[in-house]
Amino acid sequence: MSQVRLSNVSKEYDGGILAVEGLDLTVDDGEFVVVVGPSGCGKSTTLRMVAGLETVTGGEIAIGEHVVNDVRPQDRNIAMVFQSYALYPHMTVRENMSFGLRLAGEDDDEVRDRVEDAAEMLEISELLDDLPKQLSGGQQQRVALGRAIVRDPDVFLMDEPLSNLDAKLRTQMRTEIQRIQEDLGVTTVYVTHDQTEAMTMADRIVILNDGKLQQVDPPERCYDEPNNEFVAGFIGSPSMNFFEVTATDDDGGVRFESPSFEFTLDVDVPSGEYTLGVRPEDFTPDCEGGYVETVVDVVEPVGSDNFLYLQTTHGSSEVVARVESELRPAVGDEITLGFDVDDMHLFGSDGARVAVSETRLTDSA
Ligand code: ADP
Repeated sequence: MSQVRLSNVSKEYDGGILAVEGLDLTVDDGEFVVVVGPSGCGKSTTLRMVAGLETVTGGEIAIGEHVVNDVRPQDRNIAMVFQSYALYPHMTVRENMSFGLRLAGEDDDEVRDRVEDAAEMLEISELLDDLPKQLSGGQQQRVALGRAIVRDPDVFLMDEPLSNLDAKLRTQMRTEIQRIQEDLGVTTVYVTHDQTEAMTMADRIVILNDGKLQQVDPPERCYDEPNNEFVAGFIGSPSMNFFEVTATDDDGGVRFESPSFEFTLDVDVPSGEYTLGVRPEDFTPDCEGGYVETVVDVVEPVGSDNFLYLQTTHGSSEVVARVESELRPAVGDEITLGFDVDDMHLFGSDGARVAVSETRLTDSA
């Protein structure tokens, strides 16, 4: 087992595409890190550089004590799991799982023991003599995982391994991969575009955008204290609501004005232009002191909650609120939204988070 360390790593593809730029990241021994970001942000490139499937054009990658920039993939003691299972169709499950070990020259008893242990862990023991075509997608993905596990690698690298599965199976396999990773304690780098997957699985989330690191933190931290507007909008579903506001001094507090609302808070923020963010689940409808007036556009029940799609009465901004399922207003109903100042996020004109210290609502309009 090993730490994985990327120091100022960059990847420029032929043609000048800078896919990854100056990435610094240390994945601790035994840690489960999920790399997340929109399509094209450099997730796969990062993983493939750690695997040795792409060259590094700047910086250094180390696995354990060793810098591996020039080490061949097969000599890095990593195991990869991809979105496509890539099982050999003419081989049984047992043969598929044994293949890599046999190539590495392990003896028969060792191969059998490791394959049967992994099969038990993945609950596929009874499938060992089946061919891949006899298995469901979920079972095939288990075999692909088994093939990685039997190698007893220092590092697991997983690239969107669950995206071919249906929603229910995906949720189930998330839990299972977490359990196996925890049992084995193998350092894991897992790539996905799905922020829910990142939030539910990761010890720490690595958020990339446009090849650049945005934040590395535990899921709750990324959610509660996003480093910037990009992270704030990317983490959480539905996404955070954003309002462009002007802040001005107001009798010891700060007045926030937008086309949709005006209110004064006891905060210490320099006057200027900001983006104010509130998560859909942080709105309280029709609370005392609420101050964003809206009209209901669409009500979307999602079981435990309702998503309300609203328009602000002033300024016609779109707002999403997540409310208890008991509250099911009609289209056209007027709702005033409030929120705790603790749950307010503020971003400067460069997008960076501006800390808002504890405050008290003193006025509403
Ligand atoms: P992600 O996995 O986040 O979707 P990638 O790492 O696949 O992103 O790609 C990052 C950027 O690098 C994209 O702009 C993509 O088009 C580009 N890219 C990826 N692979 C290659 C390649 N082999 N040659 C040139 N450009 C590439």
